Amino acid sequence: MKTIDNLDFSGKKALIRVDFNVPLDEHYHITDDNRIQGAAPTIKKILNDGGGVILMSHLGRPKEGPTEKFSLKHIVKHLSDVLGVPVQFADDCIGEETKAKAAALKSGEVLLLENLRFYKEEEKGDRDFAEKLATLGDVYVNDAFGTAHRAHASTAVIVQFFPKAKYFGYLMAAEVGNAERVLNNPERPFTAIMGGAKVSDKLELIAALLDKVDNLIIGGGMAYTFVKARGGEIGKSLVELDKLDLANDLVKKAEEKGVNLVLPTDSQIADEFAPDSPAYNGPNDEIPADKMGLDIGRESGEHFAQVILASNTILWNGPMGVFEMDKFAKGTKAVADAVVAATERGAFSLIGGGDSAAAVSKFGMTEHVSYVSTGGGALLEYMEGKELPGVKAINE
Ligand code: AMP
Repeated sequence: MKTIDNLDFSGKKALIRVDFNVPLDEHYHITDDNRIQGAAPTIKKILNDGGGVILMSHLGRPKEGPTEKFSLKHIVKHLSDVLGVPVQFADDCIGEETKAKAAALKSGEVLLLENLRFYKEEEKGDRDFAEKLATLGDVYVNDAFGTAHRAHASTAVIVQFFPKAKYFGYLMAAEVGNAERVLNNPERPFTAIMGGAKVSDKLELIAALLDKVDNLIIGGGMAYTFVKARGGEIGKSLVELDKLDLANDLVKKAEEKGVNLVLPTDSQIADEFAPDSPAYNGPNDEIPADKMGLDIGRESGEHFAQVILASNTILWNGPMGVFEMDKFAKGTKAVADAVVAATERGAFSLIGGGDSAAAVSKFGMTEHVSYVSTGGGALLEYMEGKELPGVKAINE
């Protein structure tokens, strides 16, 4: 893997694709700066070498071109604090003014470009747009794992303009390295924990994991599709009725491949989808018609924890219940506790981005697992065995 350690950036201008798609509150304050912190070591290494840094990113999903809400100018101050240097801002990612700013950039200076997605050409993977971006720097670095599964102008198409000057940043290298460790070289037993709302989002991943894992734990809303497929009564719990056959197929495949498929046996059964709803612990195949399961139950949490504690490699993606509501976060917490305990004992634990990362952060456990990925969709696609365009473009 060709990382930035292979180059002395002194006197060079590095054009770095970062993923600064950070959550902002209504006052444009960053509520979680993990992605900025994640890219900081790459930026600092290049600055310390004596290079100049031009940063490009997207923020949100602007539909109508430039929009105040999605401007990257809101992160300039925080980014300057994190990097310890004042960050300059170009209020367009291409164009003459931006070109002039990039040309005037000196060693040790940082220029942040405005949101790439203000141009629809970015997501379309437009070649001309990519070429315009490419003129701004003389070395290309990709440190945006969160968008590596997209063949966009700035993540993949642009790389053709840097045939001999393309590198992975540290974050990207760590993400890919950890995903590979889990996929290709897991110390056994290897346990995958899948949760979240929908089984349909993770079908391909579950199918791919059945060839890799020793144990597959399924919790969260998606588990009810499996319970229903077996003929259980699940009341008003989340279910995908068109996926019942598929759920049964997965159960059969797991048996054929000798994978220990672990499903919840009990649930926290609530009257309604609300943080203060009355709820009781009961069997998850006997949920009354007017009630719904919002979390795995105590017995399931204990059983899941036993399997996790006996594992040496753990991959976790998706919460065990509606963890955003404290009353229904206990199952997710039980799993998080077990992952932390297994990690302390020497297991390697990789936490998928998105909601699982949010859950681990909510419980203050980010520092106590082996690695929390910054990529939700990208990690899932990598784990499904797909080649990520952003990775492929640099490896070619
Ligand atoms: P996903 O984006 O598919 O990983 O799903 C995450 C979401 O699933 C979270 O917002 C959880 O609140 C939700 N979720 C997990 N378990 C349940 C459940 N039993 N019923 C309803 N929603 C759930």
